[in-house]
Amino acid sequence: MQTAEISRRYLDFFAERGHSVVPSASLVSDDPTVMFTIAGMVPFVPYLTGLVPPPWPRATSLQRCIRTNDIEEVGKTARHGTFFQMLGNWSFGDYFKEGAIEYAWDFLTKPEADGGLGFAERDLWVTVYEDDDEAAALWQRVAGLPAERIQRMGKADNYWHTGQPGPGGPCSEIYLDRGPAYGKDGGPIVDDDRFTEIWNLVFMQELLSDVRTKTDFDVAGPLPKKNIDTGMGLERVAMFKQGVENMYETDEVRPVLDLAGTMSGRRYGASHEDDVRMRVVADHVRSSLMLMMDGVSPSNEGRGYILRRLLRRSIRAMRLLGVEGPSFEHLFAASRDAMKASYPEVGSDYSHIEQLALGEEETFLRTLSAGTAILDVAVEQTKGSGAAKLPGDTAFLLHDTYGFPIELTLETAEEAGLDVDREAFDRLMGEQRSRAKADAKSKKRVLADRSVYAGFRAKGETVFRGYTELQADSEIIG
Ligand code: ATP
Ligand code: MG
Ligand code: MG
Ligand code: MG
Repeated sequence: MQTAEISRRYLDFFAERGHSVVPSASLVSDDPTVMFTIAGMVPFVPYLTGLVPPPWPRATSLQRCIRTNDIEEVGKTARHGTFFQMLGNWSFGDYFKEGAIEYAWDFLTKPEADGGLGFAERDLWVTVYEDDDEAAALWQRVAGLPAERIQRMGKADNYWHTGQPGPGGPCSEIYLDRGPAYGKDGGPIVDDDRFTEIWNLVFMQELLSDVRTKTDFDVAGPLPKKNIDTGMGLERVAMFKQGVENMYETDEVRPVLDLAGTMSGRRYGASHEDDVRMRVVADHVRSSLMLMMDGVSPSNEGRGYILRRLLRRSIRAMRLLGVEGPSFEHLFAASRDAMKASYPEVGSDYSHIEQLALGEEETFLRTLSAGTAILDVAVEQTKGSGAAKLPGDTAFLLHDTYGFPIELTLETAEEAGLDVDREAFDRLMGEQRSRAKADAKSKKRVLADRSVYAGFRAKGETVFRGYTELQADSEIIG
């Protein structure tokens, strides 16, 4: 079952049950407390907190999301993307725990022929909040789940609040069992490779008067109007419905992964490191594409910096796969083609997106070749002198003058069996930050990214090409 088909079924299922279908908001959220839309609920927060009266008693949506805090997991776990799509259903003072559990169970287990997802009941497990006897009893009654497949979890995992006084409540999460090939029977099912969390149901039932930490708060009393907020990971469900190993192998992501393999001449499945790199490329290219579709441009701060990091990490991963030249033209076109059915806008905005991606790639490839040349010499010198650590000032020079990311210096050093004098590097960075602060006070605007110039310096001759090249670059650096 294609990804787009799963979301169509979900929205149809909830629309048939009185939910208004609300279009996805932008990845650039209106909420000043989050940089990106990180969950389906973000656009609904004003209704859930009672700040704004909800226009409908029930709603459903497919929301595009970005989670940068999952960036280190990408390609390593089967289930974390920096971009992913969350399906959700909401009740604003309408149905509550019983309704939410009934709908979720019904949709997951209803046969495909009747519009459901047709998952086998025996593969479904759930967690409930430790005190939530009501939810545990409902899972037994509604779904017929035996007690051992209903696991209780504490506040850290299964209690939701915004971090502010306001609504809060227990959660119940639904997991799919991938079978004995992935680990031992029975769990605990959280953070185990064998079990994949697919859907989170939040029961907003009480008012919190004081919230000190995630797990330390005071409950003032029950909410007069209780709400339901749910989030189901579309790619995670797609991975099961398509019988593939991980979310990067699903239909909207896989074409980019395959292309990264073809371009590098390496076979997916042959080496763990290379597989992770191909998955990182597939994920990051897609996330970048979607961010640019929503109007983000690469830059040195805020959202633009996150985008720049995603783009540079993709380039770095391609390089580690042995592709030193440009690859974005083909990778982005493949991602566009894979996403077009769900997001037609990506096709119409594409020339602008492509221009941004290719500009960033050109700049960064120049940076990389200049930095790598210097780094190679430094590595040889360090080894020749018998030292175990690459000097911190070399790492700093690479970063500061050539825009060569410290992560790349660390990785390259590690590959050569060396450490980096991190203490010295951090000290130099600290000194530079103080200088920059003092500088910023005296100047109105600082044009930061010096990596643009790296290509000129490395050549050892100065040909002024500012009119032709910097023009294009400065638009990107903005
Ligand atoms: P996990 O514990 O696996 O990191 P989570 O508890 O952080 O997931 P929620 O915040 O509950 O996830 O989000 C709701 C649903 O969105 C999850 O059940 C999952 O299906 C999906 N989801 C969350 N993070 C990601 C991600 N990085 N990539 C793909 N899907 C995700
Ligand atoms: Mg998570
Ligand atoms: Mg979780
Ligand atoms: Mg969760």
